[in-house]
Amino acid sequence: MKIKSIQTTLFQSPLKTPFKTALRTVSNLEDIVVIIECENGLIGYGEGSPTAVITGETLGTMKEAIEYISNFLIGLNIDANFEDIINIIHSKLLHNTTAKSALEIAIYDLISKYRDKPLFSFLGGDKIAFTTDITISLDEINKMVSDSLSAVSLGYDTLKIKLGNNAKKDIERIIEIHRALPNDTILRLDANQGWNVEQTIEIMQKVENLGIFPQLLEQPIKADDISGLKEIKGKIKTPILADESVFNLSQAKYILETKSADFLNIKLAKCGGISVALKIAKLAKEYNVKCMMGCMLEGPIGIVASLHLVSAMSDIINMVDLDAVALLANQPKNCSVIFDESHITLSKNSGLGITY
Ligand SMILES: [Mg+2]
Repeated sequence: MKIKSIQTTLFQSPLKTPFKTALRTVSNLEDIVVIIECENGLIGYGEGSPTAVITGETLGTMKEAIEYISNFLIGLNIDANFEDIINIIHSKLLHNTTAKSALEIAIYDLISKYRDKPLFSFLGGDKIAFTTDITISLDEINKMVSDSLSAVSLGYDTLKIKLGNNAKKDIERIIEIHRALPNDTILRLDANQGWNVEQTIEIMQKVENLGIFPQLLEQPIKADDISGLKEIKGKIKTPILADESVFNLSQAKYILETKSADFLNIKLAKCGGISVALKIAKLAKEYNVKCMMGCMLEGPIGIVASLHLVSAMSDIINMVDLDAVALLANQPKNCSVIFDESHITLSKNSGLGITY
């Protein structure tokens, strides 16, 4: 199954409402879809959304990186040279993890289509139904409370609350949102590196003293401050989830070895794709550290690829934060994957089970 051509195209959709974190505000999704055609006529799809403030990529650099790596892939046989192809994607260009992930997804789509299996079963999984949380954007307190209540009314039982632009206001945000929601709503907090160590300990101790116990606190401080994460972990009860601190396998290994976080957030766009995400999840399993599967603001192909991986590693990846499609104003049409707010069900068709 030789690769004949690799093309990229732009995927665009307005969001239902602007997405706001401590790092950025986005109103429209624009990302890159990769389309790989083989000489036997099979077509594979991949996708990635450049997040300049996290991975350092833009639409332009992604397109360029994919074109550059593609030069080494044309003519290779995906079935016979699968491992070589994955190695080439990762060895010909440094960084550019979202571009690599988008290429990898299309390669995994093709190999599983060729073997006539859904990707989850190619990867060793069988689970097809998943429940995701939903992100509540960083905003004025009243708006965040009303957004949280709307999410619960749509059936979400787990909310990821974005914080991190004002430590004092963030305490109020947590208290007011917690007060407004049903008692059984699970809260995940994500400060996106917006606090320092002292602020984090102070905020979380205050919140915990009020009897509020979120399921986890995600990336409160700067990505490179791993010892700070460990210090926080020792002083608060809420478990710490490392996100921007863990891109690749060696960072994951360091955090696991030093016990600097309770959970890891794996994202295809950060690590470079399914092959690396699998290695991180397998390593986390050795340390018995549970993982979250997260996403960027991206379209349905990227989300579906992430879910196939969760299926294969569902014993260790037990938290799903794959709400990006739910945030889109334009929902996927004629799609064999079912997106129903918090509930996503994969197709049993071969490959990803989704096309562009
Ligand atoms: Mg995060």
